[in-house]
Amino acid sequence: MHLFHIAPTEKTKKWLKDNKLNKDALQYAITLLFNDITRCKRVKQTILTIQVDYTHDSSAYYFGTNKIFLCSNPDYKAKSYRQKKFVIFLHFLHEFRHWMQSRVLGIKDNQLSYTEQDSEQNNLKYRRDKFEVDARAFEKKYVRRFMRYYKEYITFYQ
Ligand SMILES: [Zn+2]
Repeated sequence: MHLFHIAPTEKTKKWLKDNKLNKDALQYAITLLFNDITRCKRVKQTILTIQVDYTHDSSAYYFGTNKIFLCSNPDYKAKSYRQKKFVIFLHFLHEFRHWMQSRVLGIKDNQLSYTEQDSEQNNLKYRRDKFEVDARAFEKKYVRRFMRYYKEYITFYQ
């Protein structure tokens, strides 16, 4: 059993509130999802810091850390709140998968075939990197289940 706690920075608390996102529902959903797909008999706990980033339109994770940067408005073309929230969840799951690659699967950042510059340019070298491909597949594969758990928490505790 691996329990996740989400620790938003001060600025991020406001961003979560502005976007009607519930921190407790996020940590409930990520804890259930993670334990669905991994096996761990001992109880482990991780505090994941979330920091909103108003300066980029991409989110980020630096290997070896317990911190996820989420861009403030990942889908500026979103036509509805529902769609915006969906894209925020995709970003969160994508960066969470990079956290798993680093902290669960033991991947070191020197095993990535792209540089920070490639990532900023969003070029082919970056997009075709196997860990990047894996993170994109992960977000798509699990977003609906994550949302189901998220809603389950909201329904239960409201
Ligand atoms: Zn990525």
